[in-house]
Amino acid sequence: MANWPALAPLIQRAGRPLVIEALRAWAEAKRGAEEVADEAACARWCELRLAGLVQPSQRRVFNLTGTVLHTNLGRALMAEEAIEAAVTAMRSPTTLEYDLSGGGRGERDDHIAPWLHRLTGAEAATAVNNNAAAVLLVLATLAAGREVIVSRGELIEIGGAFRIPDIMARADCRLVEVGTTNRTHLKDYAAAIGPDTAAIMKVHPSNYAVSGFTKTVSAAELVPLAREKGLPVIEDLGSGTLVDLETWGLPHEPTAREAIEAGIDVVTFSGDKLLGGPQAGLIVGRRALIERIARNPMKRALRLDKVRLAALEATLRLYADPTRLAERLPTVRALARPAGEIKALAERLLPVVAKAIGSGATVGIEPVRGQIGSGALPVDLLPSFAIAARGKGLDRLAAAFRGLPIPVIGRISDGALTFDLRTLDDEVAFAGQLDKLRVVAG
Ligand SMILES: *Cc1c(COP(=O)(O)O)cnc(C)c1O
Repeated sequence: MANWPALAPLIQRAGRPLVIEALRAWAEAKRGAEEVADEAACARWCELRLAGLVQPSQRRVFNLTGTVLHTNLGRALMAEEAIEAAVTAMRSPTTLEYDLSGGGRGERDDHIAPWLHRLTGAEAATAVNNNAAAVLLVLATLAAGREVIVSRGELIEIGGAFRIPDIMARADCRLVEVGTTNRTHLKDYAAAIGPDTAAIMKVHPSNYAVSGFTKTVSAAELVPLAREKGLPVIEDLGSGTLVDLETWGLPHEPTAREAIEAGIDVVTFSGDKLLGGPQAGLIVGRRALIERIARNPMKRALRLDKVRLAALEATLRLYADPTRLAERLPTVRALARPAGEIKALAERLLPVVAKAIGSGATVGIEPVRGQIGSGALPVDLLPSFAIAARGKGLDRLAAAFRGLPIPVIGRISDGALTFDLRTLDDEVAFAGQLDKLRVVAG
């Protein structure tokens, strides 16, 4: 069967082993049927079966969910400068661990540490696979076999099963909880310090907010207590930004520099959240502690590869000129995008979208509120505009948009399927495929 001429073009495209795999499935499916010998039918069947395999599993999509840093859709998009640096590192040998001046061995972290020093004021820095790895490595290095004090209000779970108590256990630390869910005082920390205490840890609550009768202890209050007892203070900032978001009219998010200036000894944060770079976990702080962390054999298992390191270095470099960030860094560009510009985009696209959807639903422009996402401010706060469809069968309509050549991901809430246009950066590609929209009747 593999020699059937009808299969030759398919073998050319997909390769012989996949076609033989499909032929076996055909023979199995048509066993005993006359059709099994029908060359043309077999070729069509195999072609359909292989169509799914020929196209990549991880595909480009349009994220019109209203969440800028959508974890399931890959979080931050990278700046052109970062993409170029990554491509160069993929194509060619690099100075990953090579010192050009002496011709000998260099350090991976040396590519990013000077930038992080400049941007946060921290003495030293290192980077690992992601922020979860950063927290694990810091705890395992500084507190294995001993106690770490954390406020009950900060014992959080981030999506994907990252829970502070579980990470503590994996790092072989004993968690000592202090305070209550809504209120923790300095005296609670003071009372919990004992001979086995290795560190005090603060965690940015990221994806939830406690409001009303609340009290948390700031780094500025905590640091003098820890100093007096000779203990390090660790802070997991989560998203952690390098610039003040207020520059673009957004609410304040803690910056890594603020944590360092408040005297925190070791700060961890993500590379692909607000920072807008590749997936990474950044660890900055006091030189003596960072050196211990970087020497932990676990670091070898958690380290960054050359591609992401190149993209991270290029991203950090962009922060040297904060005035141009909104134009060069896609995450900041999306967050700072004026609502008026989004509305104008919605008005341009409305006729095309309405025509593609047809008479099955009412389509219009609606004001919506989007989220930053990825644990930065868990509230709908970004005023934006969406193209919204209302009517019956919204699930089928959403599925049809997901079935486009470049799948379009929206959001169904309050009886509407909405496409928040804040994150639409390729208007032409979006509109150009809408004639392929096929809503399956049901
Ligand atoms: C997101 C987050 C993490 C996990 O970071 P990753 O880079 O996704 O591993 C850890 N801690 C906090 C507070 C977070 O917000």
